[in-house]
Amino acid sequence: MPNSTSPALLSVATALARILASLQPTAVQRLPLADALGYFLADDIKAKLTLPPHDVSSMDGFAVRAQDVAACPASLTRVGESAAGHPWPGRLGPQQAVRIFTGAYVPDGADCIVIQENVAAASEADGSQITVLKAGSRGRYIRPAGLDITAGDIALAKGSYLSARRIALAIAAGETSALVCTPPRIGILSTGDELVPPGTPPGPGQIISSNAAFLTAFVKNCGAHPIDLGIAIDAPGAVHTAVSAAHDLDMVVTTGGASVGTHDHIVSDLAHGKLDFWKIAMRPGKPLIWGEIGGIPLLGLPGNPVSTAVCALVFLQPAIAALCGGQHTHAMFRAAIATDMPENDQRQDYIRATIETTEAQLAVRPATKQDSSMMGVLATADALIVRPPFDPPLTAGDLVDILPLPRLF
Ligand code: AMP
Ligand code: MG
Repeated sequence: MPNSTSPALLSVATALARILASLQPTAVQRLPLADALGYFLADDIKAKLTLPPHDVSSMDGFAVRAQDVAACPASLTRVGESAAGHPWPGRLGPQQAVRIFTGAYVPDGADCIVIQENVAAASEADGSQITVLKAGSRGRYIRPAGLDITAGDIALAKGSYLSARRIALAIAAGETSALVCTPPRIGILSTGDELVPPGTPPGPGQIISSNAAFLTAFVKNCGAHPIDLGIAIDAPGAVHTAVSAAHDLDMVVTTGGASVGTHDHIVSDLAHGKLDFWKIAMRPGKPLIWGEIGGIPLLGLPGNPVSTAVCALVFLQPAIAALCGGQHTHAMFRAAIATDMPENDQRQDYIRATIETTEAQLAVRPATKQDSSMMGVLATADALIVRPPFDPPLTAGDLVDILPLPRLF
């Protein structure tokens, strides 16, 4: 349990809930679906079409009546062909078969597909005899009309993130456009006297600002629009000045200066705005600010690159989803840890790790070095092991929660 000397830190869950509760979705616009990748739906998309529109075959073979092939071998007469895009217009009678291919309409009167591997056919000519060698049953290899979706059904719910597969579904269901949330404009401001922009050779004491590059890419992947606010120096009022110069921002994300050291000024700058919290029980990422500056929500991420990235994954991605009228929940899995680990302290730990698949199971191995400045370890990690506060010591083989790192992370 927390001892009386530990500072009161907000839990990750409470911090996230407070962030999400204070965000409102942006305006909406209609877009062609072809241009809507990465947007969030502002309204349901209802199917205009039923899929499949008719009973269709899922295999190449012959459409028959199940009762005619209940006992095999069975001799039938081929009376026509149904191919994708070329339905056979007739009605199948007793002892008849129609040659059929994947995706083709099942002719009226047929209720079973016999796959071609189970048929001996002398020719592909109508009128020829075929011998069905293996019994079939009603409905076999038939995709019934409406198997996938029925006209009028909700194909995609409001708030859905439009990925390639979802766009494909909406298009197949007859839709061509979507009402989407306008991507929120996220101002990205790096802070620190030591920072130089990418491309500038760093002088003594200087480093290249890489966090802005990370956040720009990350924000785009999340479906928002990054706005570069540059680099602010470590001086009182610098963040306020930089944000005031920008227009129409839906949120500001800063990196660095989030603590209350001599050179950290964001918390004091929020005297001009609103400070909700700035310390959470998380590693990496203890100093994390949530507040408001000039009426704009501000998320202040710690400057260490791993802290920036992990906090963006945990807080910024769900925040952007909320600004877009959607929801983002991180899917967690259980995996066996490959090494022993000591007891955790009061902070929820996000441990960089690699996934190992052995014959027996999925295992996750913590990187030997977890320093939050180590971008190399983060860049090659496959997952974060999430350890709750005060997690007891772990023995190799114990199951832990893991958050796989998405490819686009
Ligand atoms: P701070 O949170 O300002 O105390 O910074 C913590 C560490 O992160 C320091 O070593 C900084 O130099 C580093 N850092 C801060 N901002 C950036 C940035 N934009 N890119 C890369 N490293 C940074
Ligand atoms: Mg700093």
